[in-house]
Amino acid sequence: MQISGNTLARAAGVTAPRGATTSADAVVIEAWRTRTLTDGTKLDLGRTEKEQGFVVRDDGLFPISFKRSGTQVCDDGSRRLANVIDIKNILPHSGGHTHPLGRTGDVSGLPGPEDGRLAAVTDRPAYVISKRGAFAIEQTGGGFEVRQIAGKPLTPAEQGEVGRTVAQWNSNSGGSGVRCTFVAH
Ligand SMILES: [Zn+2]
Repeated sequence: MQISGNTLARAAGVTAPRGATTSADAVVIEAWRTRTLTDGTKLDLGRTEKEQGFVVRDDGLFPISFKRSGTQVCDDGSRRLANVIDIKNILPHSGGHTHPLGRTGDVSGLPGPEDGRLAAVTDRPAYVISKRGAFAIEQTGGGFEVRQIAGKPLTPAEQGEVGRTVAQWNSNSGGSGVRCTFVAH
C-alpha cells in the first residue's frame, strides 16, 4: 500500500471525520457521544475486554448478543478477542460492535483485522465504536474504506495502521488472511 510523502495526505481507504452522511451514521454518532444505545443499554468503552454488538435500525441502535465469544489464536503468533455475530440478528440492517480499551488499556480502538467481514457479508456499512471514535467500514467498488465519523482525526501513524488493515481486507474479503483457531471462553 502506498502512502503519499505528504504527511497531510490521508492513507488510502481512510477518510477524515466528516460527521453523519446517513441516518445510520447519525444514530451511531449519538450512541458514541452518549455511550448509550437507544434502549438505554450503556456502552462500556473503558478497561474491559467485553465487546458489545449492536444492530443499526431506522429507530435506533439495539444490542445483539454474540453467537459465541472467545479468543482467536493465529498462525502468525497473534491472539485476539473474537466475537461471532450471527448476521440473522442484523440483516437487512447494518451492524456494529464496540472496541473497549482492554484490561490493560492498550487496545487502540481502531477497526481490527477481521472487521471488514461484516461489511462484506451484509453489503452494508458496519460500525466500530470505541473511545477513540466511531468508524463506518464500507466495501465499495474500489475496495474497502474506513470513514471516521466521530472522534479526533486520526494521526498519520493511526492512518497508516488503518490503511494497512484496509489493504489486508482488500486481499482477503474483509479479513486479515491469517489463519486463526477459535478458542471458546
Ligand atoms: Zn472488531
